[in-house]
Amino acid sequence: MNHLLDSLIFSAIPAAALAAAPNVVYVFPDQMRNHAMGFWADEPFRDSVNFAPDPVITPRLNDFARQARVLTSCQSNFPLSSPHRGMLLTGRFSHNSGVSTNCVANRPVSDLRDDIECISDVYSKAGYNCAYIGKLHAHHPTPNDPDHPGMYVETQVPAWDAYTPPERRHGFDYWYSYGTFDVHKHPHYWDTQGRRHDIEQWSPEHETDKAIAYMANEGNVRDPQKPFFMMVSYNPPHSPYRSTDDCMEQDYRLYADRPLSELLVRPNADTTMTKAPSARYYFASVTGVDRQFGRILDALDSLGLAENTIVVFSSDHGETMCSQGINDPKNSPYAESMNVPMLIRYPGHIEPGVDSRLIMSSPDIMPTLLGLSGLGDMIPKGVEGRDYSGRFDGSGLYAPLRDGALYIRNSDGDRDSLGNVISYFPVARGIKTDRYTLALTIDKRTGELKSSLLFDDMADPYQMVNLPLDENKEIVADLCRRMVPLLREADDPWYSRRILSSLIPYPDN
Ligand code: CA
Repeated sequence: MNHLLDSLIFSAIPAAALAAAPNVVYVFPDQMRNHAMGFWADEPFRDSVNFAPDPVITPRLNDFARQARVLTSCQSNFPLSSPHRGMLLTGRFSHNSGVSTNCVANRPVSDLRDDIECISDVYSKAGYNCAYIGKLHAHHPTPNDPDHPGMYVETQVPAWDAYTPPERRHGFDYWYSYGTFDVHKHPHYWDTQGRRHDIEQWSPEHETDKAIAYMANEGNVRDPQKPFFMMVSYNPPHSPYRSTDDCMEQDYRLYADRPLSELLVRPNADTTMTKAPSARYYFASVTGVDRQFGRILDALDSLGLAENTIVVFSSDHGETMCSQGINDPKNSPYAESMNVPMLIRYPGHIEPGVDSRLIMSSPDIMPTLLGLSGLGDMIPKGVEGRDYSGRFDGSGLYAPLRDGALYIRNSDGDRDSLGNVISYFPVARGIKTDRYTLALTIDKRTGELKSSLLFDDMADPYQMVNLPLDENKEIVADLCRRMVPLLREADDPWYSRRILSSLIPYPDN
């Protein structure tokens, strides 16, 4: 293709404006809870939250937080890898992103849609170069291994890892990614041309090397006249977190001798669980991620890019780490699972500080970033997330705040004759407001209420008392009323099927 012609036709921003448009660097480690950042223990942050932060060492994030807008309540609506990623990329809730649950070969029902514009499609159309580095986990794995046509990229059944061919990359013109793979010191990637690279290096360190090389434009991988949008998706602190095969030894040493009671400081954590020693490796991984994020910040400084670059630090969901007595680190409405970091720095445009009022949902990230980049007019029709950019940069207009964040959990629905999951079942919905968390789980056969969780997060920040619904009827009625517009906005099957209409006051038509 003729690149000059291509840019003339598709560039939505005049050349002069394009040169001034901000770069965007979006860094999101996997499974990092909001509580695992050291600055929450310090002024001026500690008065904004009602939890004891993890005793984790994050010097770079602590500095960055003082330069950024920091949200106390960014919620991963469906706190599981693929669904969050689908919402992040498309600005739509899980019913319309295509990514209805975790992507794996025997779940063709969950797959990032090709027919809708992702955040990278919009940046690309606006004249940006777009780079994706690290874990994607938003595509249904198919037998399309570039080295072995007709085969999956792994032999495990069902396959989790996936290769994303160029036609499915949604505007990302630089690619160094994989689907999902959890051997942190032996990662692999497929590059822009589809060549596989097997690496002997801790994956966040390697991905940071690639990110810095991209920003420095080593090998002419991008057009230096264009702004760039780069996503860096680290896998740690995601499991495994069992040994120094999973994290850097220097980071592990910081936690190795500390008793578990000093590490698992949340009163809802059970230090006798088999998983408990993982806390040392989990926090070590966070510290390692902090150092790698700091290298990206240093590179922005040394390349002279820091002033005109929006930098975001977030995660796809959290990690329970022995809280609530459950082994599952995610996919639950608990704060450890849903509440993720959200820090946005844009020098001269976003005044640093804490925002403890905005409850941000996963689909809001895309339109908000586009708005901050001056591309609010290009937010695709059909985006369900809200553009809060005006709240960040003070430009005035921004979407009204929601009453809370929708909680979503889907399970497998129908299967075909081969056992592949071809529909999903919307097994639980709920709401996280500034005060309460409510989650309602239904029986797959009857559709009736099976179990509930209701917490007063103000009186009970560690969610240790599950309030019975029938003893809190007014609170439940109010929360169910507030769920209605959220379910409608998400085009959710609970809304269209009027699920639990005995509790949730859906309109008549
Ligand atoms: Ca994940």
